[in-house]
Amino acid sequence: MFTKNLVLGGAAMLLAALGLPVQAQDDHDPMEPRWSFAIHGGAGTIKRENMNAEQEAEYLAALDQALEAGTDILKNGGSAMDAVVAAILLLEDDPKFNAGRGAVFTWEGENELDAAIMDGRDRSAGAVTGVKSIKNPILLAREVMKDGRHVFLSGAGAEEFAGERGLETASPDWFATEARREALERLKARQLSAIDVDHKFGTVGAVALDLEGNVAAGTSTGGLTGKRWGRIGDVPVLGAGTYADNRDCAVSATGQGEYFIRAAVGHSICQTLKYRWRKMLDDAQASVPKDADGNPTFIVHASEMWLEEADIQAAADAAMADVKDLGGTGGVIVVSPFGPAVFSFNTAGMYRARATSAGVKEVAIYGSE
Ligand code: ASP
Repeated sequence: MFTKNLVLGGAAMLLAALGLPVQAQDDHDPMEPRWSFAIHGGAGTIKRENMNAEQEAEYLAALDQALEAGTDILKNGGSAMDAVVAAILLLEDDPKFNAGRGAVFTWEGENELDAAIMDGRDRSAGAVTGVKSIKNPILLAREVMKDGRHVFLSGAGAEEFAGERGLETASPDWFATEARREALERLKARQLSAIDVDHKFGTVGAVALDLEGNVAAGTSTGGLTGKRWGRIGDVPVLGAGTYADNRDCAVSATGQGEYFIRAAVGHSICQTLKYRWRKMLDDAQASVPKDADGNPTFIVHASEMWLEEADIQAAADAAMADVKDLGGTGGVIVVSPFGPAVFSFNTAGMYRARATSAGVKEVAIYGSE
């Protein structure tokens, strides 16, 4: 009879002998609980030559602050869900990003906000679209999830529900910024597309893995400049711009939402990872020597299996390639219970940051970083 350690040690040795990864390149002991966290503040034509040092420093500081807010929670044993909300709240209140305050304008000159949140433990979720007076739409999405009767609320109904839950409201002035109003005017005057005037998507999002092994994802946005007719983007569409499932991963996206919906980006990344990880586990188990009765001499424990960063990166890159094939641009952040946090984007840059319990900390803007 093997003790737990011997069983696990044996499996780890066998996997290594088979050339299968038992832990990530971060040298983290696979039996140690781990956390990881990633955030984004949009992707697009974000180039060094178009930013001055002051703007760059402001973006980096904002990302760093949001990253720290989430990692403080995760480090101290807090939940993935709380980490996601803490980071997004800061980014929603920051006028530099297209979410909450600083959201882009619709064709009619209003700010209409979308947000979603999803809990990987049981795939409970809350999403809202077309809200105009809720200061932090991510909190409204979380209330929808907590309430649990519905998953997706829109417009006036969503605002009525927010009122019942006592959420803070804000006047149109809070959300409106001059730069965004000017972008709408330029779009109308020159008949440009949203990406032509904005050069980037400024949606904000966060994904987290906590020490209990739970993942969560959240995303918040004003959508696209000049959007019309009650347009809804990918952000509140679960499985597109926001998705979380403990069995595989958590994803938050930014980009031209229409393409992310059509490619079901969030769900597709998580499904790819689920099958990849499952196959690795099955292959490892099938390779375990059998006893005289034909039974495996030990069981490969799932907690020993850990995907390489390259595997997770490949799943995220494949989804972004799919978006590109359809004609779309943007990016994603991904965390998985089976591996480190990754980014993938098919644009010049993406406002992004990540941190892990293995000591990774990165805050970056341009694609070359
Ligand atoms: N994905 C968002 C949307 O299409 C836009 C963005 O990422 O900024 O609504």
